[in-house]
Amino acid sequence: MILIQSIRSSILLLLTIVLLKIDVKGFHPYLAECGDVKPRQELYYPDYNIYHNYKTTKELIITLADNFKDYIRLDLSYVSRLGEPQLLVRVTNFTHLKKQNITNYWRNDSSKKRVKLLISSGEHARELIPTESVIFLLTNITNGLKHSGDKRPMDNAAYRFSHYILTYVDLFIIVMLNPDGRKYAERTRNYCWRGTSTGVDLNRNFEWQFGGSGSSSNKEDEEYRGPHSFSEPECNVLLDLTSQYEFDAFFSLHAGIKHIYVPYSDSMSQKIGRKPANIKEQLKLASIMAKSSASKFTYGHAYDLNDYAADGTVFDYMAGKRNIPFSFAIELWGNGDNSNKRCFDLFNPHSQDLKAALESIYPIFVAGLTSLIQKKLQRNQNKHLFDAKLNLYDNSLQVHSQMSGMIDQVNQEEQNFNFKIKNVLLSASSNTALERKNPDFVDWVKLGLAKIYYCLPAKFF
Ligand SMILES: [Zn+2]
Repeated sequence: MILIQSIRSSILLLLTIVLLKIDVKGFHPYLAECGDVKPRQELYYPDYNIYHNYKTTKELIITLADNFKDYIRLDLSYVSRLGEPQLLVRVTNFTHLKKQNITNYWRNDSSKKRVKLLISSGEHARELIPTESVIFLLTNITNGLKHSGDKRPMDNAAYRFSHYILTYVDLFIIVMLNPDGRKYAERTRNYCWRGTSTGVDLNRNFEWQFGGSGSSSNKEDEEYRGPHSFSEPECNVLLDLTSQYEFDAFFSLHAGIKHIYVPYSDSMSQKIGRKPANIKEQLKLASIMAKSSASKFTYGHAYDLNDYAADGTVFDYMAGKRNIPFSFAIELWGNGDNSNKRCFDLFNPHSQDLKAALESIYPIFVAGLTSLIQKKLQRNQNKHLFDAKLNLYDNSLQVHSQMSGMIDQVNQEEQNFNFKIKNVLLSASSNTALERKNPDFVDWVKLGLAKIYYCLPAKFF
């Protein structure tokens, strides 16, 4: 009897557990999948007649670079693990190099007076809007330029904007940092996929608190950091560029919420309250950028705005290791996660809303660029003042040196003079015949010479 009761109880318990689990899954079918990158039934998918996929992105960038050779240079040599180009473009006014017959645009870094900004987009496969936003930016920058065969009447505002940016900015954009991940998401329609072809989250793969609790060693996890720092070949383009050029600013573009993060985001910084030395300036720029959009953007320390830390991020590395003065992670779109969200809708607007979203994001770039330009101009002006002071100092050193020469000469002449006087005094004092003939005259001469001798100007040094 007891045995039968126990079996009944066990069966009931088992049934309850099974039913509860089904119930939980029914109530929240995605709860069990939080944090992983398995596909989910999406609320909506991208319409690739409106969104760019990797192929059309590449075609568009190649066309832009072909149309505006004097302003956009494309480098296809940086590739992903599977050999897909990451579409690195450099945007500035190259015409002065052309005039000088300098053909190696990439190695020439003569434009130190321009703002050097590096933008990294397409880091996370499921976030399409960062790449759309840089395409929108490039389209606007080139909107005021004419290419051969272009019959458009030139709009003055567009012309002025294009030339303003191209004159004062040296802009590097990695249009698609993670092409393999993007192509995987497009092919499988798994818009929860975030990592590379091996599932590594590039934004946890950098050598800044790598391996900390704000990342994962689990390959199934969306924050999988990889076997070691920089394990992914996709990192190379960022490492190379930041070792070759001295950037004024770095923007790492993402989506999911509307936040602008200043460093740092890692668990150690959160623990010890670490901040960059120029935190006030960084927050000021973040504030200007956040306020420029019609949408509400929040800005601040990454570890203050989020309830999680992130270790091994690109923007922390650029701030902490590469010492780039302004290094932001910018979340361009979204309202944060909640139980109704799937994946694509968490990170990207519906295709019909894409244009409006891009128009609300665009002022953030413009505000960032114009503020950085003003800072650079101010710094250059200060540098001119500094150079002028340096020239004055050099001149004063020259004067000093000339004066020293003159003083040496005076000293030499003084010595010669003293020597002569001493001789005169000596001969006068020994000239007993003259003394005998006119003793008053000899005293007068002695006194006069002694006065001259002792009343020479005081030394300068
Ligand atoms: Zn992201």
